Amino acid sequence: MLAKLTYFYSVNAKSRSYKLPTKTKNKTENRLIYMTTQVVKKHMVVAQNASGRNMNVPIYRMKGARPGPTVYIQSSIHGAEVQGNVVIYHLIQRLKDMDICGEIILVPNCNPIGTNIKAGEYTLGRFDPVNGTNWNRGYFFDKGAVEHFAKTVTREESIEGIKQRFRAHLSNAIDNKLAEPWGLGLAQQLNLKLQQMAVNADFVLDLHNGPVSTRHVYIPEYAKDSAKLFNIPHCIFIPNVFAGALDEATFCPWWTLQESIKTNLAREISFNVEAFTLEMGSQEVIDFNEGNIDATSILSYLNAKGVLHECDIKPKAMQRLGVYLKDYKTLFTNWGGMVEYMAKPGQTVKKGEPLAQILNIDDLDTDNGSRTLEAPCDLIPILHFPSASVLSGTQLYKVFTNYREL
Ligand code: ZN
Repeated sequence: MLAKLTYFYSVNAKSRSYKLPTKTKNKTENRLIYMTTQVVKKHMVVAQNASGRNMNVPIYRMKGARPGPTVYIQSSIHGAEVQGNVVIYHLIQRLKDMDICGEIILVPNCNPIGTNIKAGEYTLGRFDPVNGTNWNRGYFFDKGAVEHFAKTVTREESIEGIKQRFRAHLSNAIDNKLAEPWGLGLAQQLNLKLQQMAVNADFVLDLHNGPVSTRHVYIPEYAKDSAKLFNIPHCIFIPNVFAGALDEATFCPWWTLQESIKTNLAREISFNVEAFTLEMGSQEVIDFNEGNIDATSILSYLNAKGVLHECDIKPKAMQRLGVYLKDYKTLFTNWGGMVEYMAKPGQTVKKGEPLAQILNIDDLDTDNGSRTLEAPCDLIPILHFPSASVLSGTQLYKVFTNYREL
């Protein structure tokens, strides 16, 4: 039987107290002295390797002295998608000098297994290597249980009261799942342990990357106003459908609860819990300067949500394009071969214009030596496959169709 993995906190954290960052004027030197928000660092065991040794993730907690929302941010659940780690680095460095309302929990490199699965020059960080499951599909949501919970809500119960009870309910359900006597796969164990931290958050940000990609963000349809709070040019609005990812596992319960209470009691409630998957450019790339720009984008969202006190970071005036998930299309290739990706992520492409040119090794001496793949309609490529050699049936591009300006 699998050894039951339990939470383990290391004792790196010397102090559990938090200080309010205050601006005080030093009279003798006549300059501003900033006291910083403390970072409390712990580690949590998420797996054991074949030598029986624990594999940990770091958890950075930054708590302000003022009350406010709880924020949960993680990066690199897909091991090759590393840019989010440098974004979290910038966030921590900048938040130290800021006045936080509530608490921000940051978990960089939240999948220490995925990041370390290398094949030559590449990181194979998308799937649990033991069971083959996607690392971002094992989070928990039980629609029936949420609908059942909704029946216990009365007309008089306060929103705060409902939130508190519902969080306890979700946390308990995740604990039960983790204690499953038949055990769980590697990816699902990792997912549920991370979700147990995210479950108490009002705002959850899961930082990813595309293969070769422009920056884009997945936004639940009910929170579409928040699209303009990030400085991200491409926005995908997603319905209340659960497919196993962390953002869905966060917003589906609250969305379902909201809808069920409306049906049962004709009571309109907004819990103001939001979750997003942010795609910060291309995998296998770290860019410190871009990371700082990405951090500003996240800070502008957090500021708009009341997480930062007396902060002047605002969303940028910029063009933002949005699509519904049904209009975010995948283009497969029916041919194998060697590909030149002619259309770049973010570029506007008209129907019939070339997207890619594919070289056929068996026909180099004929007119079929190369074939052009054309855009089936007006579109914007958001990402493309990272390798030039492809098999038939490869997802070559993911594109915006029927997009509109927000
Ligand atoms: Zn990803």
